[in-house]
Amino acid sequence: MSHYKIALLDGDGIGPEIMKEAVKVLNLVAERNNITFDLNHTPFGASAYFECGHPFPDATKQVCDEADAILKGPIGLSHEESQKIPVDMQPERGALLPLRRRYNTYANFRPVFLPPGLAHFSPLKKEIIGDGIDIMIIRELVGGLYFGEKETGTTAEGVRYVKETLEYDENQIRQIAIVAFNTAMKRKKVLHNIHKSNVLKSSVLWNEVMTEVGKDYPDVKVENILVDAAATYLCLNPGRFDVMVMENMFGDILSDQGGGILGSLGLMPSACLGDNKAYYEPSHGSAPDIAGKNIANPYSMIGSVAMMLEMSFGMDQESKNVWQAMQSVFADGYSTPDLSRPGSGVNMIDTQAFGDRVVEALRKMPIVA
Ligand code: NAD
Repeated sequence: MSHYKIALLDGDGIGPEIMKEAVKVLNLVAERNNITFDLNHTPFGASAYFECGHPFPDATKQVCDEADAILKGPIGLSHEESQKIPVDMQPERGALLPLRRRYNTYANFRPVFLPPGLAHFSPLKKEIIGDGIDIMIIRELVGGLYFGEKETGTTAEGVRYVKETLEYDENQIRQIAIVAFNTAMKRKKVLHNIHKSNVLKSSVLWNEVMTEVGKDYPDVKVENILVDAAATYLCLNPGRFDVMVMENMFGDILSDQGGGILGSLGLMPSACLGDNKAYYEPSHGSAPDIAGKNIANPYSMIGSVAMMLEMSFGMDQESKNVWQAMQSVFADGYSTPDLSRPGSGVNMIDTQAFGDRVVEALRKMPIVA
């Protein structure tokens, strides 16, 4: 009988609410497949700071070190609440970036997926969505501006300044390029390389390495697009994209735009892979505006579970079943409030009811050994 240890970092805001639904799905997956998941909840983020004095406590590090995979809820507070925490202890700087650095999770997969039958969720016109949206954004996750040297100070003239460095070396770019080309090979063999080489030298090196790696993948057609233009094309013609690869900050921003064109960030799960450890998280934040109301969409969290089943545990078929179970809830005409605006014809259900329906649908699906 397989046995997997999973560290559960509930996080802040809507984190614990959507984690609860993900756990229901994990428990059913274990039962259906006759395996055991050892689920260890452990504090992380602003809640950990208030509880233990640090947003990424040593005890959490130990649970994560020992885990076969990590499932993480969103972290963070509203802008105003964040001011209650010293700058370097605030959740992203004090917990999220250290988590990514600790496990060198350089490859972030962010699927942007909407079948044509759910086009009504999107703010885009039906004719723009066409055959649906199916993009895999691959974001470099441990380099660039977010991880570079930082300096703040005051000049001799008394002017406050800040300096942040955007650094990449060719090895960092090569490893994410290989991930992107391999992903393109498994899909439509088209890779959109997103850059800003007309301004940034980091993008000049990025593009050089992309071209070098591309020589090993002659079957993959590469299209190079400036990041600003890519933002426009995502709105005007998302169907032109299949696999997109980009550096850290571009990926942070464009993937949120991905959530926007789908209709909700609640539809954005993700996988963050390193060579020896992976963690899975919704792409979005802790949504303080809706926290505690049982109305958040748990798709992003349950989708992250589906990605974990496939990418960490090799349970490809059960992963597909979880995706299908979630899609069946939408197909039956139900969703959480983010996607069931008045007049949309979608029946509004809460977070818990969405999770229950996913579980109900999954329970009915045959288990293929
Ligand atoms: P956000 O992503 O939390 O929310 C943006 C909008 O999307 C809000 O209107 C929110 O209600 C909605 N939304 C997000 N997830 C949803 C879901 N599952 N269902 C329904 N609606 C959903 O962005 P924000 O408000 O700018 O940030 C809040 C906090 O989250 C900040 O502290 C930020 O630093 C943090 N953050 C954390 C992560 C992470 O943990 N990886 C990522 C992004 C932001």
